[in-house]
Amino acid sequence: MENLIKDAIARIYERIEAACQRAGRSREEITLVAVSKTMPPEVIKQAYDAGLRVFGENRPQELRDKARLLPEDIQWHFIGHLQTNKIKYVAPRAVLIHSVDSLRLAEALDQFAEKRSLTIPVLLEVNVSGESSKFGFAPEKTPEAFEKIAGLKHLHIKGLMTIGPLSDDRQKIRQAFRQLYNLREDLQKTASGVELPVLSMGMSGDFEIAIEEGSTHIRIGTAIFGARGRQP
Ligand SMILES: *Cc1c(COP(=O)(O)O)cnc(C)c1O
Repeated sequence: MENLIKDAIARIYERIEAACQRAGRSREEITLVAVSKTMPPEVIKQAYDAGLRVFGENRPQELRDKARLLPEDIQWHFIGHLQTNKIKYVAPRAVLIHSVDSLRLAEALDQFAEKRSLTIPVLLEVNVSGESSKFGFAPEKTPEAFEKIAGLKHLHIKGLMTIGPLSDDRQKIRQAFRQLYNLREDLQKTASGVELPVLSMGMSGDFEIAIEEGSTHIRIGTAIFGARGRQP
C-alpha cells in the first residue's frame, strides 16, 4: 500500500512535468495539493513519508482532528464549503482557504481574524460552469464580490479557485479554466496594484488541462489515494 501511494505520486509528478513542458511553464509554478479527505491519518502519513507536505481537506472537524494527529510541518489547505459556525476549526490551522463562496462567509472570516489578530489567506471560489450543485460566485458577480472582500482588512485574497465542469468534453473543461484565468487577469487590471498569483484549478481527471491553462495549485485526491472508500 505504501508503495502504491509512492508510485502514484511519482506518476503524477511525471504528468505534471510533461504538462509544464507542453505549456512552456516551470515546474516550480505548480503546487500539488494532495486531497486527503476521508483518508485516515495512517494513509496520509504514507503520502507524507513519500515527501508530500501540502494536503487538502473539505470537512472542518476532519481537518482539525487530522492536524492534531499528523506532523506539524504539514500545510493544510481547506477546499470545501465552509459554514460560518465552523470557521473556528479551520482558520487557525489552514494556510489557505480555497473556498470563500459568499460575502457572508468572507465577513465572518474577517471578524474571526480580527479577534485573533490573524490575517487569513483566501481564494474566491468561482462557479464557472454554472452547475447548480456547485458553490461559488457566478463569474459576472465576481468583480463586485472581489471589490467588497478586498476591503476586509484581515483577509488576504491570493487568487481564484474553481472546480471544472463535470463533463467528458475536454474542450469545455479547457474553456472553463481559461475563463478563470481571464477573470483573474481582468481583476488584476481593474484593481491596479493587486496581485492574484494563485489559480487553484485541476483535479485528478483534468489537472493537465488546468496546468496548460495557467493553474498554480492542482488538487488531487483519487489519483494519489485511490477511490475514496476503496483505498488501494
Ligand atoms: C475532492 C475534491 C478534489 C479532489 O478530487 P479528485 O477527483 O479525487 O482528485 C479537488 N477539489 C475539491 C474541491 C474536492 O472537493
